[in-house]
Amino acid sequence: MAYKFVDNYREKGARKKLVSILKDRGISDEDVLQAIGKVPRHFFFDETFWNQAYKDIAFPIGDGQTISQPYTVAYQTQLLHVKPGDKVLEIGTGSGYQTCILLELKAKVVTIERQENLHKRAVQFLGKMGYQSKFILGDGSIGYENEAPYDKILVTAGAPLVPEILLKQLKIGGILVIPVGDENVQKMITVLRVSETEYDKIVLDTFRFVPLVGDQAW
Ligand code: SAM
Repeated sequence: MAYKFVDNYREKGARKKLVSILKDRGISDEDVLQAIGKVPRHFFFDETFWNQAYKDIAFPIGDGQTISQPYTVAYQTQLLHVKPGDKVLEIGTGSGYQTCILLELKAKVVTIERQENLHKRAVQFLGKMGYQSKFILGDGSIGYENEAPYDKILVTAGAPLVPEILLKQLKIGGILVIPVGDENVQKMITVLRVSETEYDKIVLDTFRFVPLVGDQAW
């Protein structure tokens, strides 16, 4: 990973182009588009691969994991309807790119990652970039009870089911966004907690995520 924080006209231009690609693909939330336009995604890449950073593709980040495709990040974030001050639990810190997008939307973010290398790298890296989040090393498939309840919960890995325990950690009126399916393909699902016992579930488009591994997962 490069720790060279250079954001010149070439990267800024490429980022602008990415925002317009996402708009063309149907992302309409201006706040989300603005956040994508602000976060220097190339910082998460080794300098050799900066030319890949603003393509609408997922990219390997080591330890068998990926930085999500910008469209997927924008799509999931749009579904969360983040408001300033929302407490958001992100499950699957990975590179920390999605965390930065949530922070740009002025959410208070608790992000959890099960792989120590990725967790440590994100803590160090986001700190250097000036982003402040609560980073937890652990199994996010059981959520993170210590900071519950959350306004929003975002799962960035593919789950076999919607873990009941995550629903219980949502505030009433809170939203969970989670890809659910088999190891190869998942449907994006949003769940709105309507009351203490009622939930509204919507099944949306098809995606391909790395698996959510843990107690309430694979
Ligand atoms: N949000 C990330 C980003 O912006 O780079 C992309 C996340 S990557 C697609 C999915 C991440 O979920 C991986 O880093 C993986 O290690 C992590 N993961 C898988 N199962 C997990 C679990 N039970 N708890 C926490 N993290 C998990």
